[in-house]
Amino acid sequence: MSAISGAKCRQCQRRYHDRGAWNAVVERGVVVGVLCPRCQTPAENAEAEIHDATLHYDRDGAGRLIGRPKGE
Ligand SMILES: [Zn+2]
Repeated sequence: MSAISGAKCRQCQRRYHDRGAWNAVVERGVVVGVLCPRCQTPAENAEAEIHDATLHYDRDGAGRLIGRPKGE
């Protein structure tokens, strides 16, 4: 998830670092924010693990973070 370095947790404003299961909040394929492991509910944490396994993070032409299914 190196593409989201510089992002901050939506809840506590902690700066993203590449440790732990941070959860990217994805709306219509665009990453609108991240949640640190501490601020996630257990369900969100499970979702983070799934996203990490299935999504590839990138930036589009406008610099927005996007999540694409792996394998595309
Ligand atoms: Zn947080």
